[in-house]
Amino acid sequence: MSVNQQAHPGPPYGQPQPGYQGYQQPGYGGPPLPGVPQSQYGAYNGPVPGYQQPVPPQGSLRGPPASGAPPSTSGASVPAGHPGYSQFGQGDVQNGIPASAAQMHRYVRREQILTKASLGRPALPSPMQGPPLPGQTVAGPPPSQPNHVSSPPPPSSMSGPHPGPPPMGGLHGPPPPTHPPQPGYHMQQNGSFGQARGPQPNYGGAFPGTPNYGSQPGPPPPPKRLDPDSIPSPQLNELPPQQKPRHRIDPDAIPSPIQVIEDDRSNRGSEPFVTGVRGQVPPLVTTNFLVKDQGNASPRYIRCTSYNIPCTSDMAKQSQVPLAAVIKPLATLPPEETLPYLVDHGESGPVRCNRCKAYMCPFMQFIEGGRRFQCCFCSCVTEVPPHYFQHLDHTGKRVDFYDRPELSLGSYEFLATVDYCKNNKFPSPPAFIFMIDVSYNAVKSGLVRLICEELKSLLDYLPREGNMEESAIRVGFVTYNKVLHFYNVKSSLAQPQMMVVSDVADMFVPLLDGFLVNVNESRTVIASLLDQIPEMFADTRETETVFAPVIQAGLEALKAAECAGKLFIFHTSLPIAEAPGKLKNRDDRKLINTDKEKTLFQSQTSFYNNLAKDCVAQGCCVDLFLFPNQYLDVATLGVVTYHTGGSIYKYAYFQLETDRDRFLNDLRRDVQKEVGFDAVMRVRTSTGIRATDFFGAFYMSNTTDVEMAGLDCDKTITVEFKHDDKLNEDSGALLQCALLYTSCAGQRRLRIHNLSLNCCTQLADLYRNCETDTLINYLAKYAYRGVLNSPVKTVRDALVNQCAQILACYRKNCASPSSAGQLILPECMKLLPVYLNCVLKSDVLQPGPEVTTDDRAYIRQLVTSMDVAETNVFFYPRLLPLTKADVDSNSLPAAIRNSEERLSKGDIYLLENGLNIFVWVGVNVQQGLIQNLFGVSSFSQISNTLSALPILENPFSKKVRSIIDMLQGQRSRYMKLIIVKQEDKLEMLFKHFLVEDKSLSGGASYVDFLCHMHKEIRQLLS
Ligand SMILES: [Zn+2]
Repeated sequence: MSVNQQAHPGPPYGQPQPGYQGYQQPGYGGPPLPGVPQSQYGAYNGPVPGYQQPVPPQGSLRGPPASGAPPSTSGASVPAGHPGYSQFGQGDVQNGIPASAAQMHRYVRREQILTKASLGRPALPSPMQGPPLPGQTVAGPPPSQPNHVSSPPPPSSMSGPHPGPPPMGGLHGPPPPTHPPQPGYHMQQNGSFGQARGPQPNYGGAFPGTPNYGSQPGPPPPPKRLDPDSIPSPQLNELPPQQKPRHRIDPDAIPSPIQVIEDDRSNRGSEPFVTGVRGQVPPLVTTNFLVKDQGNASPRYIRCTSYNIPCTSDMAKQSQVPLAAVIKPLATLPPEETLPYLVDHGESGPVRCNRCKAYMCPFMQFIEGGRRFQCCFCSCVTEVPPHYFQHLDHTGKRVDFYDRPELSLGSYEFLATVDYCKNNKFPSPPAFIFMIDVSYNAVKSGLVRLICEELKSLLDYLPREGNMEESAIRVGFVTYNKVLHFYNVKSSLAQPQMMVVSDVADMFVPLLDGFLVNVNESRTVIASLLDQIPEMFADTRETETVFAPVIQAGLEALKAAECAGKLFIFHTSLPIAEAPGKLKNRDDRKLINTDKEKTLFQSQTSFYNNLAKDCVAQGCCVDLFLFPNQYLDVATLGVVTYHTGGSIYKYAYFQLETDRDRFLNDLRRDVQKEVGFDAVMRVRTSTGIRATDFFGAFYMSNTTDVEMAGLDCDKTITVEFKHDDKLNEDSGALLQCALLYTSCAGQRRLRIHNLSLNCCTQLADLYRNCETDTLINYLAKYAYRGVLNSPVKTVRDALVNQCAQILACYRKNCASPSSAGQLILPECMKLLPVYLNCVLKSDVLQPGPEVTTDDRAYIRQLVTSMDVAETNVFFYPRLLPLTKADVDSNSLPAAIRNSEERLSKGDIYLLENGLNIFVWVGVNVQQGLIQNLFGVSSFSQISNTLSALPILENPFSKKVRSIIDMLQGQRSRYMKLIIVKQEDKLEMLFKHFLVEDKSLSGGASYVDFLCHMHKEIRQLLS
């Protein structure tokens, strides 16, 4: 056996590893390519500031990503003409979490208790002044009726009048008062929930005993939350929402995502997460932490909804907590962590269980002096092959335990033998085929020229294995409109040759030799081709395009070359030209909220499903870059991309000036990123549970194997498990994810991830070890698949019902007895209501009038492949007060909650959700700040059509741009920057992302939804 060591700086693999020395790893994910900044792969695990480099995502290689784009009009997806607000927010409420907040919120409570009637009241009885005991409840006034407010219907149109003041918001009317000083209230409990609240130091002004964090201390405001009217009563609940008094529930008194994130950061961010112990719940995805693999896969590869799963299916059903794992098999790791070692067992291949075929892993038991091993998954006993024999020490451990990654680590790779290859033949290196729409719109917008210019340099950065001098990937080029043009770019040619195929009904590739070439060998011919393409089609009048034949052409080319590969298709319009896969415009917004709404998400023809199947069989992955000026049916065009594990990018109303940088950054990252081809993933489990359902971008031809023509470092697969027998508390439960794939150099490999979980006979143990972010990832994917088959309302109701059951089961079985008027949430799930509400009111499940059918199909597909960090920020965006940023430190300003009432008109904020970055500027921002950030002298002069901030030489400008660059580096897509001025029409778009507020599309505010959940739970319990 030989084991190759990854060429990776300073592996924290502490044990002696004689076997790893002296081998150069032909590394999967080795050191970064020369000249390619590491930070472009920075999206590994959510906001992890410590891993980020303060350079733009594409760094010095190509210049600052967002610079130099001249201002222009912004995309037309923005609603126009909405009346501006004359009154905004609650005045200058100050935000930002003070350093001492962490100390004040240090208590870890077992559960969160909301006594509705107690909310909005002054200080509570003393029990709440100390860290509460598990199960402790708040003694409060008698319970009252829940005050669920059903949402009013959405406004009829975006240009219509505003639907009126929301019941709870502070949006209109006189500025609401803020908190009075409350002497004697010294200690803030964790999470600001279930107790009367004094002013929260980060929001309030004068607050005895704590520093004044507000920069504008004014006269003591009149009391707001002490108003007797603020206490709900049944009578009040009969009133229509508009007449209800505001703030019956103090928004500061319900669980705060920001607080939970901050608490986890301060509690768990300093120590490495060591994976040696079974069933450990990892830190949150929003926490910056390092991982040490000591036998279980890193949470960067696998996260679970619960790390302690019920022993019986009855228990699992009772709780309704879905048992699921979100798996990102090729996740990018931060540079401080060790990449999986590559193990080569030679011709015999990896050692596996005879019966279930599980791969050798740390949980296999060696017996009979090491001559046999018992499988940890199926208990079958297998002979140890002679070449693999090793003696056991006095504890029964093999003496080479620490020398072998597959015995001591949670994640590692095996070099696959020819038995693991298609047709028993080692694969050829994959190919990339660039397929460019050259119809009128594509040429006219400058897109064709842009793509060709970019490819000239980008082709030098194709993925390569760590120590290889050049990429093994071959490239080919096709252009198309109603017909296809293939190019011969053979190195011996003086000029490229074009071959036109106008019979698109039966696609074939007119040339074999010279179509797929090595970039270095054919450099001159390729450069010549890329120079000529924009000229050749400069005067085109052709507006119609085909689509399916383009994919078929790429597929046929890969078949002829007997290799896997990726198609990069740049496409602009609905393919209406006569050809297979021709589509019609079937967009119909009238279907929204009807039983036929699901058809908007379905493919309009089965043609593409069959094509996808053929592509998967060949390992032909399709990445799609769309540039639509109108409906082009993403739901149908995306089918092949979806089933082949590809990515879709969409640039509606593409304009060179505004969208150039975003598109180029996406393209660069997409071309350069790690990808495995011809991939098959199987998840094995120990006896008692099994994988029953899968969510993600893939194809399944049977019930166990997840097939992907390509799987890149950003894609996740969510797997659901069900019981098929009883589990045992002693032995726990095991997962083994095995991914077979072809590397970018054509090497066949197996990547193995193992994870051990605890099992419980008490429901409380389940609830104590859940992870809400992962739960939301699963629920969102489950719901987004559900809309293909069920009315959206049915899907929403089912989500609410399931979560109510989850929380009711906790209340009934785990919480200490208390009155029904109290809402009691498990500590680990206290954010379930707020996050669930964000899923419910997302564009897929509750579209506003400005959301197009294509947007919804696009979002649906994106979310299906997201990891936990991505769904977290997508559904609950990150909102940062830029004016609170410390220009002298590398840190981000503390985030604030996504609600309009947290905004101050004297400040500038940044909001990001993984797809967009908004910079919101209040009307009262100091002139100096405006000058420093935008280079203009007044608020009115700020252009809201900027797609990038100007590069100005002052600390504030530098700080803000470095924050934006850092955020861009953390995400798998380059986010669109949108400047929003307070009271400007674009503000409507921005407010869509203030997810704790009532939404224009009818989505409930957080407070209202929490009350609704409480009502649902009470109904289940009664
Ligand atoms: Zn087995």
